[in-house]
Amino acid sequence: MMEEFWSAPLWIDGKSHDAEQKTLIYDPGNHNSAVGEMSMGTTADVDRAVQAAERAWTAWTLISPQRRGEMIAQVNQYIEQNLDRLSRILVLENGKLLSEAKGEILGSMQVLRYYASLADEVNREKKIEDNRGTLILTRQPVGVVSVIVPWNSPIYLGFLMLAPALMAGNCVLVKPSTFAPLALTEILAEMSKCLPDGVLNVIPGSGSTIGNALVTHPAIRKVSFTGSTEVGRTILKDAAGTVKNVTMELGGNDAAIILESADVDEHLANELLQGAFCTAGQICYGVKRIYVHRSRYNAFLDAFMSAVGKMRVGHGLLEGASMGPVNNKQQFDFVNGLIAESRSSGARVEVLGNWVEGTDPNAGYYILPTVVHGVGQEAAIVQQEQFGPVIPLLSFSTEEEAIALANDSDFGLGNSVWSKDVGHALHVARKLQSGSVFINLHRLGASGVDMPFGGFKQSGTGRGHGIEALHEQMELQSIIHRTDM
Ligand code: NAP
Ligand code: MG
Repeated sequence: MMEEFWSAPLWIDGKSHDAEQKTLIYDPGNHNSAVGEMSMGTTADVDRAVQAAERAWTAWTLISPQRRGEMIAQVNQYIEQNLDRLSRILVLENGKLLSEAKGEILGSMQVLRYYASLADEVNREKKIEDNRGTLILTRQPVGVVSVIVPWNSPIYLGFLMLAPALMAGNCVLVKPSTFAPLALTEILAEMSKCLPDGVLNVIPGSGSTIGNALVTHPAIRKVSFTGSTEVGRTILKDAAGTVKNVTMELGGNDAAIILESADVDEHLANELLQGAFCTAGQICYGVKRIYVHRSRYNAFLDAFMSAVGKMRVGHGLLEGASMGPVNNKQQFDFVNGLIAESRSSGARVEVLGNWVEGTDPNAGYYILPTVVHGVGQEAAIVQQEQFGPVIPLLSFSTEEEAIALANDSDFGLGNSVWSKDVGHALHVARKLQSGSVFINLHRLGASGVDMPFGGFKQSGTGRGHGIEALHEQMELQSIIHRTDM
């Protein structure tokens, strides 16, 4: 499979540099295949990028938001021309299916178009006049900011943070994930060519070195982070030293609540299959727990197992595959550990689906789709974010119980409610403690780029998507002209 080899160099001040130290990137679906190499940046590189960004900043803020938007979205032409090749790279570094990779990249182009269209919002002011005089509320860019990206949907999630940052008039330092840096870095390199030097800098490297420098550097005013709650906690502590503004999109353990009034049929089973197993379960707002009213439980279990049983696991580039491998060894071991623990604690563990013909399950981080039932709320598979292709099913008797079980979590990213009676579902939705609640839907794409998205509780701080994400990248300023004193 491997005649191609990609690289992710540093991009600082509009120029590409190879670091002295590099790390190989392997295909999660084929351990023997190195698909590229990533430069390992140093803290000196971060210093250089900060200086370049500071030099570029004033001029960048003076370019009209309209023009900034045009410059940011210009890279879409390059992406479109290279869509097939970029999708392939993403499959080979991340593990997802080719269709999922293409979908991610097309969605990322939409993110750029959307933020490019918000020029009027950047300049929008509010003027309040009363008998004390005039109050003008306006927004200013923050300055030099950093963006730290996870591996699960690196291009889409990277764009969701950096597009509003650039639109707002900030200069940006981006750290891709060590587990999927190649396609993102190539696209950002092209994007940086459409922008003045120093406005967009890319510094691949480890979380402990580059990530930490992007959180602690005194000249960086803000951190946008998408990733795990565990790393989010570390970042909050490290950012305290310079009192940095942080926006965090963290982990989730989303519940799907199937009410007594839901239609239990093949459609429902397939929707939840998508929600739970898309990208091998590695979606922040994927379905991670399913609660079914006990009168519908057996019917749902049968329909769901039958749907999941039809799945085929194999390399993301293979045509017959409906699910690829998980991304990395840590995730593979963690998910398998949760499955083993469920089994040894007496739960029913149904390993379903099959291999795409010719797949060697030991060649990559492959896990068959797995349904766990006969578990209690206290089980690790229910309490923790599995972020992999295994899903627990539980039952409930009353609506109050379902709400209490869904809310019994330190996470609060998303939840869904399923019912024929939309009014009833809305009533339940308002009692759920999560940043998003989906009605009769819970899969990738459900949260549109214009719909504010983020977490209650330990799923994050601040909001992504929408105009809210633009505001996160700006400082609100009150200009006060009083005439009464
Ligand atoms: P992660 O392990 O938290 O890593 C995310 C990024 O942080 C990587 O670039 C990582 O660098 C970097 N990092 C690690 N340690 C750091 C430190 N001390 N300081 C600064 N940066 C550091 O997350 P992941 O495994 O890539 O992604 C999966 C997690 O992300 C899941 O929990 C998922 O739910 C969550 N997620 C949330 C959302 C959302 O919108 N709420 C979206 C997607 C994913 P390395 O290159 O060294 O790994
Ligand atoms: Mg869980």
